[in-house]
Amino acid sequence: MTTFADLGLSQPVLQALDMKGYSTPTPIQEQAIPAVLKGRDLLGIAQTGTGKTAAFMLPGIDRLRENDKQIPFKSCRMLVLAPTRELAVQIADSARDYGALAGLKVQCIVGGTSVGKDRNKLHRGTDILVATPGRLLDLIDQKALNLNGIEVLILDEADQMLDLGFIHALRKIKELAPKERQTLFFSATMPKAIKELVSGFCNNPVQVSVTPQSTTAERIDQYLFMVQQDEKLSLLEMILKGRHDVPGTIERVLIFTRTKHGADRVVKRLSHAGIESNAIHGNKSQPQRQRALDEFRKGRVPILIATDVAARGIDIPGVSHVINYELPNVPEQYVHRIGRTARAGKEGIAIGFCAEDERAYLKDIRKVTGAELERLPLPDNFRAVVEGEGPTKPAPRTPMKRVNPRPLGQRKPQGDRRPQGERRPEGDRRPQGDRKPQQAHGSGGSGRPSGKGGGNGGGNGGGGDRGRGRGRPGGGGRPRSVNA
Ligand code: AMP
Repeated sequence: MTTFADLGLSQPVLQALDMKGYSTPTPIQEQAIPAVLKGRDLLGIAQTGTGKTAAFMLPGIDRLRENDKQIPFKSCRMLVLAPTRELAVQIADSARDYGALAGLKVQCIVGGTSVGKDRNKLHRGTDILVATPGRLLDLIDQKALNLNGIEVLILDEADQMLDLGFIHALRKIKELAPKERQTLFFSATMPKAIKELVSGFCNNPVQVSVTPQSTTAERIDQYLFMVQQDEKLSLLEMILKGRHDVPGTIERVLIFTRTKHGADRVVKRLSHAGIESNAIHGNKSQPQRQRALDEFRKGRVPILIATDVAARGIDIPGVSHVINYELPNVPEQYVHRIGRTARAGKEGIAIGFCAEDERAYLKDIRKVTGAELERLPLPDNFRAVVEGEGPTKPAPRTPMKRVNPRPLGQRKPQGDRRPQGERRPEGDRRPQGDRKPQQAHGSGGSGRPSGKGGGNGGGNGGGGDRGRGRGRPGGGGRPRSVNA
């Protein structure tokens, strides 16, 4: 079995990997690291969850160490571009971990935070800079940053950057970066626009490709409730309160809605029911989004409501259940959503809520994934609960269920809660800085299934995956059918 040492990485990086507890390289790491260490350009077709961050960051760190140049004034030696703020923050954290013993300086600049602070961060330059394209260009325009010092340029989730309208930003960055550089280009899909971008950015790249989707989806058991649109909130509440059993032990639940408005509505309703949850979407400020993710990761608020774009690309460990509260109108998005569970080799559960007007979406999901989602029964007394908000009888047991050990997300007794004022909401100001992509807003409702990828708002002010022209992620395999 190949080890990280076999791949030619330096001692400080190997030690950092030891500290992280990684013993063996993932397939993309095994393929990419030797080529990057040789100085080759790279085209990686892979998505989050494959270990691609380490695949570019580990050899990238060693390239910088080997070149041994001074940190350039108001510039950086390695630039990593990422589509969303959360992903950028996550990459910067990884860079700090992986480069802990290499003595490299890491900075992260993203929209929705103070530009003044970013200017200060960059004044003396940095070894590694992780950035979203919009904020990067803002700082270049303000002469707080230049790209002259770049030795290694990395584009992560390039297809997502295009979807979010960053094409002009990317072209400008390409013009400004030195021609003599190494470029590592990552994308989950390879539509024509990406191929064109690759040929502009890369010079005879080594191509590596991994298809995690099939392996991930095989570990996900997929279920379905047929439930009316206006009954979904009641059903969700019953599940989260442990009044209606669903398969698996609920630990951390990621709930997807199609729109920002829908996400806020769920948070509000759950709050009325005494269940604490957070939402991440494009109308939340960066600190609010980061705090929601942190609380979810730490398990303090283990229920997170997200729109597609907001959650895309972020590594959220420990998600036991993904609930598709609203089915996505682009079937590939379903694969991305359920891939948030079953991370790092674990098993996961995906549950869809399908209303009458979403049947067309369900049909598309079945067609694209090949999965038969197993139908779960609604609670016996469900209608009574919904209509009269009557008392909920004990939930019926369905076969093969593991019983939830405890209701989830119920507010803790007051004494257990964090003292008021400790957690300061940073205000509702709109995230600034990152260029606002086109078609940023969702329809604000669930809409009729049109079979086309419109009305899928939310996320980083982003357009999300639209239309059906997109290929299946990573060449994706088929989720396992769970229909026994
Ligand atoms: P990524 O695709 O870069 O977002 O990585 C997905 C997850 O896998 C992250 O939580 C990484 O910390 C983790 N990871 C990356 N490489 C390895 C490895 N070789 N062994 C174990 N975990 C890894």
